[in-house]
Amino acid sequence: MTPIDEIKSRLDLVDIVAETVELRKSGRSLTGFCPFHSNTKTPSFVVFPETQTWRCFGACADGGDLFSYVMKREGSDFRETLENLASRAGVILEEATPQQKAKKVEQEQQADLLEAAADYFHNLFMHAPQAQYAREYVKRRGLSAETIRTYKIGFALNRWDACRTHFDTQGYSVKELLDGGLLTHNEDKGTTYDRFRNRLMIPIRDVNGRYVGFGARTLEPDGIPKYLNSPQTDLFDKSRLLYGLDLAKRHIREEGQAVIVEGYMDVISVWQGGFRNVVAQMGTALTPQQLQLLKRYTKKFVIALDADAAGIRATMRGLEVARQTLDRTAEFRFDPTGLVREEGRLEADIRVVMMPEGEDPDSIVSRDPAEWKTLIDQAKPVVEYVIGVMAAEADLNDPKAKTRVAEQVIPLIRDVENPIEREHYWQILARTLRVDVQALQRLQVAKKGGRVVAPAKPRPVVDGTKKRRQAPPPPPPPARILNSGRGRSAAVRKREENFLRECLDNPLLVRRVNRMLSEQNAPILNEGDFSSSEDQALFGLINHQQSLGRVAPIIEMWDSLDAILQQRIRNLQAQSGLASNQTERRVERLVLSVLDWRQEKVTRLNDELKQLIHHARIEGNQTLVTTYTKEQLTLVKQLQQIYRAKGAMSAVARRRSEEKI
Ligand SMILES: [Zn+2]
Repeated sequence: MTPIDEIKSRLDLVDIVAETVELRKSGRSLTGFCPFHSNTKTPSFVVFPETQTWRCFGACADGGDLFSYVMKREGSDFRETLENLASRAGVILEEATPQQKAKKVEQEQQADLLEAAADYFHNLFMHAPQAQYAREYVKRRGLSAETIRTYKIGFALNRWDACRTHFDTQGYSVKELLDGGLLTHNEDKGTTYDRFRNRLMIPIRDVNGRYVGFGARTLEPDGIPKYLNSPQTDLFDKSRLLYGLDLAKRHIREEGQAVIVEGYMDVISVWQGGFRNVVAQMGTALTPQQLQLLKRYTKKFVIALDADAAGIRATMRGLEVARQTLDRTAEFRFDPTGLVREEGRLEADIRVVMMPEGEDPDSIVSRDPAEWKTLIDQAKPVVEYVIGVMAAEADLNDPKAKTRVAEQVIPLIRDVENPIEREHYWQILARTLRVDVQALQRLQVAKKGGRVVAPAKPRPVVDGTKKRRQAPPPPPPPARILNSGRGRSAAVRKREENFLRECLDNPLLVRRVNRMLSEQNAPILNEGDFSSSEDQALFGLINHQQSLGRVAPIIEMWDSLDAILQQRIRNLQAQSGLASNQTERRVERLVLSVLDWRQEKVTRLNDELKQLIHHARIEGNQTLVTTYTKEQLTLVKQLQQIYRAKGAMSAVARRRSEEKI
């Protein structure tokens, strides 16, 4: 049994959900209000005790197992969730490799040192006579005693050896202090001295509240630099940190929105003003890693930046990063020449708000918190913002300048998921540039990397009656060999495992399978296709490798893999599976297998829904009956689509075998 199975056998999903959701029995299942979207009318959230799975039939249309539930609720990643649930279940996880273990111990020690340093600086700030003008400065900025405590504001003495001496007497070595970034070494003079002197100290914690570094503000009028940060270490990686996220994450989820500001002080004063969903960049433009981190909590972002040129440039860079990072619902298409075209719609709502000239979040909130709220509510969708900025900078009497603006904006418009909104932006752009909408839409804009984005085509008709005539008749559902729910899910898992095993050796198989699935108008593979969380994580890894075009087997990156994935891979490889050398047939077989297991899952969900509808009818809850019935229609459509795809594929196979004869 893997640790994951062990954990699942010891913990009951029902108990875990019931910690925060009030559940009612409804036949074999339990229902309640969904904790992941706001709705207090329809209890669309269902827990299935028999399969230990959950599903939201409302706005989320999402579901999964114990792990995915906890990951979603806590906003934690797979490893964190595993450790958390393992300790709850009393399961001991397999040890990491010796290098991983040593590194982890070292990082923990460094974090402890930095926490001790934060206490040391905070104490100086609170009590040292030398910190008097630091206290006055903070008072002028209007920070309350509670805020100072919450953010553990500190002060570094104006001496070269104060910090060093303090920690030396506590038994820390110079190397430890250097590694933690508290000391600086001057190669030329061969001297080692305090890095932070005469500065206001702002401790920086990671998303889990671990102390990882400092941002230190000068207290001298012309002090350079204004902010001195800790040097880059394993713990302090500016591209992976967002200031304030440890405190803000809960509020970001609750409010369904993250506000990103420029500086540490902005976060602190906005928090004090009562707005708690705020984080700050780390003095750099937004990075993909920062967005990935935020994406755990929300897909709605408001970027609030100062009204200077640097702010605008930073915003534009941030937007480019956002486009490249955030999830897209990828669609693969084929043009007549056989080239694959990839289109994506950004699954995120990014808005931008510009601070009024000469103001920053701090000055606005200190004057009137209500003003901040109004400002954030007025944030403009990114496309509108970019059109505004670009048009203001360009000479719109120059056709070349117009083209340049169009080239920048069109990719953003094509990323907009909602067709009505998309149309709206086409019109704004056309009006701003004073050109025809059709002319804009004909403009082929080269993506980074030189690929050409095809103009949006209508989605393939999934269940159109027009297409039905040409489609092969749905084959009858296969005879059910395994009748019990558990037996069926075991069969599904077997298929999933087979699939993963083959793709471990060749990540590019995923791409080929996706291509064939798209040819059959079936959705491409995603993590949700896999039942267990470890397999979802493993598929995520394989999928990432294939997206980078890597052909090397996953095993080649063994040392960098999480111990739990290593164990899973060993496990998969120990089981025997069919392997075929004929690549074409292999892909075909894998695609059929994917369709098979999807069919099983949809059928199972459909059975559950029937039960739920039955109970909702008995209770006379018409809203619930409607919600479930709507979901059932979607499932039926999915099933028809699967049947059609399978039918089409077997027709191809038949033709091929006839040709051979
Ligand atoms: Zn929901």
